[in-house]
Amino acid sequence: MLITADWIVPVTGEPIRNGAVLLSRGRIAELGPANELLARNPDARIHNYPGCTLMPGLVNAHTHLAMSCLKGLIPSQPFHEWLKHIPVAWNALSDDDIAASIAMGALRSIASGVVAVGDIAYGPESISIAADTGLGGVFFWEILGIELEGLPQALYDAEYPSDPLRGCQGRLRCGISPHASYTSGPRLLQGTHKIAMAQSAAFAVHVAESPAEVELLMRGQGPLTRLSDRLAAGFEAPGITPVRYLDRLGVLEQALAIHCTRVTPGDIGVLAAKAAGVALCPRSNAYLEGGSAPIRALADSGVALGLGTDSLASNSDLDLFEEARALQALEPSLSARRIIEIMTREGAATLGIAGRFGSIEPGRDADFAIFAVSGDDPHASLLADAGRSTIQAVMSAGVWRVLSSSPVMGVSRVERGSCIAAEKASLALASSMSDF
Ligand SMILES: [Zn+2]
Repeated sequence: MLITADWIVPVTGEPIRNGAVLLSRGRIAELGPANELLARNPDARIHNYPGCTLMPGLVNAHTHLAMSCLKGLIPSQPFHEWLKHIPVAWNALSDDDIAASIAMGALRSIASGVVAVGDIAYGPESISIAADTGLGGVFFWEILGIELEGLPQALYDAEYPSDPLRGCQGRLRCGISPHASYTSGPRLLQGTHKIAMAQSAAFAVHVAESPAEVELLMRGQGPLTRLSDRLAAGFEAPGITPVRYLDRLGVLEQALAIHCTRVTPGDIGVLAAKAAGVALCPRSNAYLEGGSAPIRALADSGVALGLGTDSLASNSDLDLFEEARALQALEPSLSARRIIEIMTREGAATLGIAGRFGSIEPGRDADFAIFAVSGDDPHASLLADAGRSTIQAVMSAGVWRVLSSSPVMGVSRVERGSCIAAEKASLALASSMSDF
């Protein structure tokens, strides 16, 4: 199969005008000028996409797909207030509701060109549903609020694979996340990190997301104190920044540091030296009044950056290009080319999956998105106009997932299941909002 477009943007090489990608057995066999590939492969089945740009499938570095059914249910407010509503909504959901919510999030991700995620998972459903829909990436089992001694049982109960390298491999990788320094105590932070490193699994932690988190760590005060007293066993305010605290515990090594809105120049140096990467979530940070990360300083520090939508409980959609436009608005000095890299190869690097996702190269799985976008500068054109509204086609693992702008997989049953979940969560929230 040969696919032609006005532009091929491989990310690891220069854009190819009037380019083509040759596929063989679900993999990229070759890419180059369309006329050359057409001449060498006269018998190939051809899909022409005039007026379009073909790029690698996008990498959404931070999602909570399981929370997709909460879209629009919790208003914008400071993070520590918003967080109180999450367990209320969550506890109203059955396993089937959560599965429908994950499926809806996965399909919406793919429908906007995403082929890999860094997802916070709460059990094995996220990874199995993602596999069914064609979504790959890293799935971090979230374990929080327990004593270290309870960790083996908690992992067992959450059906975390006993051998994550065998249990999930290839396009699907496993990881662990202890959520944050105010919901997991120091021993649990270290224990989860130790297991992840010993198993060559991934590790992620939310860090420096809100002013309240900094206030808690620096001074032991503020609106997160009750939560940390209840969940973070053994926590004592260290009097240093969240990044320094996690570094002192030794858990930033190879970690994906999520958010990092409240970081100092010194923190940025620590992140660059230790972390696997930083996931930026500008729209969620704005929704939860957390401010903006120092994007320019992080971008210049050498730490790998990824871009994440976070969950639909704190964002309006899972469209990574909408997130990218928010990033650019906050930091106009960041070039379109760098932002496209953050959405693809560099974002994949933050998750440790750049060897498989984020660029178009011979020998790799056929993972790409085609947008009805064209212009003399393909990076700028993509950043200006690509997204759910201009998607033409998506292929992941060599299978068409979106064709003629529509998901190939039937979505009506998934949407219905997710509507039921949203209704339950909405009722639970309505009866509890007056309590807060
Ligand atoms: Zn998150």
